[in-house]
Amino acid sequence: MGLKATRSVPASGPVLERHRGRDADVMGMSVRRIVPLARRRTVGAWCFLDHFGPATVPAGRRGLDIGPHPHCGLATVTWLLSGELVHRDSLGSVQRIRPGQLNWMVAGHGISHAEEGVEVSDDTQMHGVQMWVALPEATRHLPATFEHHPALPSVQVGALRVQVMVGELAGSRSPARCDTPLFGFDVAVPADSHPLPLDPDLESAVVVLSGAVEVEGVVIEPGTLAYLGTRRHEVQLTGHPTARLLVLGGAPLDEPLLLGWNFVVRDAAELRDAYRSWADDDGRFGKVPGARGARIDAPGSAVRRD
Ligand code: MN
Repeated sequence: MGLKATRSVPASGPVLERHRGRDADVMGMSVRRIVPLARRRTVGAWCFLDHFGPATVPAGRRGLDIGPHPHCGLATVTWLLSGELVHRDSLGSVQRIRPGQLNWMVAGHGISHAEEGVEVSDDTQMHGVQMWVALPEATRHLPATFEHHPALPSVQVGALRVQVMVGELAGSRSPARCDTPLFGFDVAVPADSHPLPLDPDLESAVVVLSGAVEVEGVVIEPGTLAYLGTRRHEVQLTGHPTARLLVLGGAPLDEPLLLGWNFVVRDAAELRDAYRSWADDDGRFGKVPGARGARIDAPGSAVRRD
């Protein structure tokens, strides 16, 4: 783990960079880690993206339980294409989430949460993404909040059907709280070529969740981050034959970040404080009432005491 904060420098104009994600293991579940990558750490304030599944949960079984663990300095975003989860946090929130709904947990100075599978009566595919948004200096020390948005605006842009998870498109705005200019669109792309308008002041990227898509004529499949740079008024998308993807972006961050375990901070001292607060259970991250899974310890090598 690096202990120096880094800043991802945005491209100064339109580009098409392909960055292959890497396979990672989260509590025994294999995921594709698409952000951060060595050469592209952030896209706007989006600083983490794990794509999980599709994986089958057999009838009568329950999906994975991820026990209580802490966060600070970020907002977590859970977005499902299929399956269901239950969110519990140290504010007392208990919230089931289904596809098309948005769980938006703003950790601020500190929160802990658990995510639990739901027992299924039929074989069920779990498929979705877990994302983090870095909070700016102005809000990262504030108390935590949790938002659940059961219905989000859906916009038809030509032949593209777009759910506005975060930010605004064609006059429709997501109710999710944004502390920096940010957007996240879930886009269903049919065959043939279709333009999606973009804000040229923001940087943007495409992450394919199913199928394959041509982005500006280049085929992109799941597991790759297609970084688009800045100063684009639109991006041309072609489904092969149909695709489901995320278009993400925002104002480039103007401050360096340090990501360590589940924390987004600015320097090693802050990271050490966060690890110590979780190890000592000193109240900063609270407790998750009713959680099914065991409290997750920080990776041993990262627990630093002075
Ligand atoms: Mn989490």
